[in-house]
Amino acid sequence: MTTNSQWNGQFSRFDLVAKTAERCRTVIQIGELTIGAGSFVVMAGPCAVESERQLLTTAEAVAAAGAHILRGGAFKPRSSPYSFQGLGVEGLKLLSKARRETGLAIITEVMSEEDVDVVAEYADIMQVGTRSMENYALLEALGGCARPVLLKRGMTALLEELLQSAQVIAEAGNPEIILCERGIRTFETATRNTLDLAAVPVLKTVSHLPVIVDPSHGTGVRALVPIMARAAAVVGSDGLLVEVHPTPDKAWSDAAQTLSLEDFDEMMRDLRRYVPFAPAFDILRPQLLATGETQ
Ligand code: PEP
Ligand code: MN
Repeated sequence: MTTNSQWNGQFSRFDLVAKTAERCRTVIQIGELTIGAGSFVVMAGPCAVESERQLLTTAEAVAAAGAHILRGGAFKPRSSPYSFQGLGVEGLKLLSKARRETGLAIITEVMSEEDVDVVAEYADIMQVGTRSMENYALLEALGGCARPVLLKRGMTALLEELLQSAQVIAEAGNPEIILCERGIRTFETATRNTLDLAAVPVLKTVSHLPVIVDPSHGTGVRALVPIMARAAAVVGSDGLLVEVHPTPDKAWSDAAQTLSLEDFDEMMRDLRRYVPFAPAFDILRPQLLATGETQ
């Protein structure tokens, strides 16, 4: 099988994000935290910022459990335009307060190029949601922003298209990009999306960018989140994006996939056993893929 060389051919045209012998990894630095340097970075928090109490309670609990970054949507892209759309700038201010109180860095979504400046004032990482992966006006605006970008895979996007969008951001001037596998739409309905974990070793092989996994949107099922988080660690993800809430059943959005504070703590303890199994992707042709070639 010639999978590996096909991959290199397919992806190498995205020259700013493709892995080469000279450029094997991008390491993103946020204060003392590094993403893509071998440590497993966990971003956790509610789907949406709902109130000061909800956010601060979550932030303190996820920090105590070992999370590194607080997530929380202030601008929410919803499946229905009639659902709660987020607290907007008020939500950004609450995230910033939570950073002051816990020391956690902040990741939050930006949906429109017009909001890039205001979100960048508060966020440490700018999240591009699945519905925005092909919003090129937004991607270009993020090229001029001095914050790392977490780019989620479009729910019907090929990995090639994900890397194309990453290339757009890099070409527009921002090389600090984290890729995120968050599940894709398939014919399966038992889970909300199909979490494509093979995307991790593929992306880590063909690109030098860090890759993280979102098992919350990837499954839509709370009980599946910890076990898919384990799997993400073992296939070489650089970290996780996970939804956590003090009262998950009452969460204003994505309740069914949201972990309680206790479940999150348990998941973090469990993960310690699995993170050491992660393969390294520091060479252009990792052993994993060399094995694939002989099949
Ligand atoms: C989210 O992270 O809350 C979110 C809306 O994710 P996605 O864009 O993957 O649906
Ligand atoms: Mn969500």
